[in-house]
Amino acid sequence: MGGGVGLPLPYHWQQPTSHIQEKEAVKEKILIVEDNPQNMRLLEMVLRAKNYTLLKATDGEEALDMALREQPDLIIMDIQLPKVNGLEVTRKLRNTPAFSHTPIIAITAYAMKGDKERVIESGCDAYLSKPINTRELPEMIGEMLLQRRKDKA
Ligand code: MN
Repeated sequence: MGGGVGLPLPYHWQQPTSHIQEKEAVKEKILIVEDNPQNMRLLEMVLRAKNYTLLKATDGEEALDMALREQPDLIIMDIQLPKVNGLEVTRKLRNTPAFSHTPIIAITAYAMKGDKERVIESGCDAYLSKPINTRELPEMIGEMLLQRRKDKA
């Protein structure tokens, strides 16, 4: 191979402005409420990839405290939780004006008959059963946050 004169690689790449704006737009705070460490890790992994700011709580009391203190933009709520279950946490939040419209996605271990009704009746906006679908969940979150931004605008 002869040492020809190589053209320098063009390197004028800059991060497009629209991309930066998009990244900033997805800095929303999400509270993950989940007592199972394995599921928590999975949820964190999926959502970290989307650049959200993540908050975590592992029981119902902690979830309430953290939600009131941090005012997350969206909550992922496991239903089977120590101390206060996810349905009760959701009912309490819905009775607080600041949380009347915060998107809450319930996650349940088993989809039993009547579960969906109980979950929706408690005030959750949507319902997913385990195992968590790692493609469906971020899509659902993205749509709900987009809708919430539109409602606020
Ligand atoms: Mn649980």
